[in-house]
Amino acid sequence: MSSSYERRTCPHSEENGGVANSRGISHEVTSPCCNAMSSNSAMVPLWPENMLGADWLALWSEMCQSSSTGCPTILTKSQWGGRAATCRTAMATPVTYVIIHHTAGASCSSQSTCITQTKNVQSYHMDSNAWCDIGYSFLVGGDGSIFEGRGWTSVGAHAPNYNSNSIGINLIGTFTSSNPTTAAQNAAKNLIACGVTRGYIKSAYILKGHRNVTATECPGNTFYNTVKTWPRFQA
Ligand SMILES: [Zn+2]
Repeated sequence: MSSSYERRTCPHSEENGGVANSRGISHEVTSPCCNAMSSNSAMVPLWPENMLGADWLALWSEMCQSSSTGCPTILTKSQWGGRAATCRTAMATPVTYVIIHHTAGASCSSQSTCITQTKNVQSYHMDSNAWCDIGYSFLVGGDGSIFEGRGWTSVGAHAPNYNSNSIGINLIGTFTSSNPTTAAQNAAKNLIACGVTRGYIKSAYILKGHRNVTATECPGNTFYNTVKTWPRFQA
């Protein structure tokens, strides 16, 4: 779909939360883009004459999330077929910590096999552990796919004493003697940057491996040594 772009201000109260298109029509916007834009402006597409308003909003929202905020694609729980949480505790943001995990299970290298692994983790946490939901905030597959777990704004169940002030990112696989793929590592790094940009993670966040806060081998010796080289790591 072709369209041209202009820099314009995000909707303000004087516009009643609406955005005027090139034809002067207001349309309510629920895009998270503006909330995340510190400059309160965004590159938004001009509304092509032949595009439905809803399509234009969808295009804008997608672009805001993928481009303006530098956020990678995140598969929502409904997109990967996850089960709804049975209970939830809201988490205050921005959080101070980012905690890295591995599943200590099988690796996966395609979106479909990574979805299977993510579903297995969720089933284990909900059925065997009797938790409300999958414990992690997000999971990352070997193909670089990112799966929403509890997401940005719910308290997780992945690192006691840190759950209410951290985002827990799990890279799917066992990384005791090998690293996650470059795609997975980049996806995790991009996810952290996205969280900072969107105001869910403090810009002065502290990165830790799970073993730094709990007696565990997680996220595996080899990967832990790599995580130590990532920005803002602090044992
Ligand atoms: Zn862990």
